[in-house]
Amino acid sequence: RPKSSNAPEKKILTSAFSDIPVTSYTANDFVWQNLDRWPDKTATVCAVTGRGYTYAQTHKMSIAFAASLRTKLKLQNDDKIAIVLPNTPEYPVTVLGVLQAGCIASTMNPVYTAEELKRQIELVKCKAVITSKISYANIKQALAELKLNIPVILIDNDDLPEGTIKFAEFAQDFSLDTNCLKAVKRGPKDLAILPFSSGTTGFPKGVVLTHGSVVAMNQQIADPDIIAIKETTATNQAVLPGILPFFHIFGFNVLMMNQLALGCKLVTLPYFKPELFLQTLVQHRAEVLFLVPPMVVFLGKHPAVTSKHLESVYGIVSGAAPISKGDAEAVMKKNKNIVFRQGYGLTETNGAISVGKNDDSNHASVGHILGNSEVKIIDLNTKEALGPGEEGEIWYRGPNLMTSYYENEEATKEVLTEDGWYKTGDIGRYDENKYLYVTDRLKELIKVKGFQVPPAELEMVLRTHPKILDCAVLGIPDPISGEVPKAFIVPQPGQTIKEEEILEHVNNKVTIYKKIKQVQFVNEIPKNPAGKILRKQLKEMYC
Ligand code: AMP
Repeated sequence: RPKSSNAPEKKILTSAFSDIPVTSYTANDFVWQNLDRWPDKTATVCAVTGRGYTYAQTHKMSIAFAASLRTKLKLQNDDKIAIVLPNTPEYPVTVLGVLQAGCIASTMNPVYTAEELKRQIELVKCKAVITSKISYANIKQALAELKLNIPVILIDNDDLPEGTIKFAEFAQDFSLDTNCLKAVKRGPKDLAILPFSSGTTGFPKGVVLTHGSVVAMNQQIADPDIIAIKETTATNQAVLPGILPFFHIFGFNVLMMNQLALGCKLVTLPYFKPELFLQTLVQHRAEVLFLVPPMVVFLGKHPAVTSKHLESVYGIVSGAAPISKGDAEAVMKKNKNIVFRQGYGLTETNGAISVGKNDDSNHASVGHILGNSEVKIIDLNTKEALGPGEEGEIWYRGPNLMTSYYENEEATKEVLTEDGWYKTGDIGRYDENKYLYVTDRLKELIKVKGFQVPPAELEMVLRTHPKILDCAVLGIPDPISGEVPKAFIVPQPGQTIKEEEILEHVNNKVTIYKKIKQVQFVNEIPKNPAGKILRKQLKEMYC
């Protein structure tokens, strides 16, 4: 890890957790390292259909899938493959197969519109797509518009559209010679996954996460002081609902990769529907829940959720967006045995920066920073590091950090310093007891139900309306979603435009959670001389 100078840096928050061991696993080998301890236990089962696979089956299928990618599609090391799937038992098979084949998994949201998928597929130059019938129409449109003729593998087994490949033909072709995989040499520095984040500003960018960084993250969060998930033994296996989307880094690492490495049972839910979620908790006797704040609020505050639903639960971790102390406490009132912990992190840090310890009762904090990592709080004006209790931008350094934004040197330079610090764009502080607090967001990102909504994307669509002269989008507080997007519109002189017209123009071009909920007409959008929207000023002027 690079250091700025020989002199030790002052005012650095260090971890309250143990250091992580140094290993040279690939992300896929990390998951499989203890396979022989639980081959016949269930790895995944779908909450809707009951379809699922044991650990041995998941492993065997991922190897066959990898060999198929190499031999049938002739894919090579570092080829990017888009994974556009909801949470299903096939998800880990495809991801681990892609990694085993030496390729790179670019995870994308299955509810994205054709336009949104098109941008991401184009950006990372995908060589194949793995998807399901749910997203196929949009994938087909995106590929047609890009004039890209690449193989599309569907995880469904019946009535497949013409020209697509059946998942089973790849993942269950056990006759295939897997010797081709011996030539696949991957190490910690090789790229493993490419999820997307808009980061501090602008459009979604590919986030370069190496095998080493993914493994580091998984080791950091496996600290027994963090999540005391009961160990998998001959007679015991922890059950976790796989409700956080696996395409997002929180669901990918903290839930999918880490729990599979520990031999847990993941009950995959392809979508969040309150009844299905509650039924899953009860039927499968779920033990530990990784959730985003609206799900915690639902469990704590909804009158239909009773202690009975939470009877088997002993741990809840909430992350991806802020949660209030009151909302955390509401859910614990329904079952006093639940240990509630808040986590904080970003796609750029492989999911996590900090999390509460097992015995924590400080629910206002996002916990302690992870093993082998450091945080500095930087004064917004002087750029000096601040001490305990003082608020500024959170800078992070650790082995789980991204290497760069994919083929975007400019955006990378804006957030990564030469001595390895990453500027999170979040505002916070730490206290004398090493608790970290996230208090505000400096960057323009909006988070709706934990999902990223980059204002630049909505502004781009708004600007294409002929009656709009100028516009800006901000996140405003919402009791259910945390935040929702609101548009500020300057109409073209002499033109009248109705709110409904604006909503219709934008909202059928973006996916469900990006839809603009409010519109306000204004005379001007404050900007700096370079034309950059002054969002803080806009907020002060009109909110
Ligand atoms: P993402 O890359 O989608 O995970 O988004 C990362 C951003 O989500 C962070 O930079 C924060 O702004 C926000 N975030 C994540 N966890 C928390 C948390 N516990 N409290 C407040 N904000 C959070």
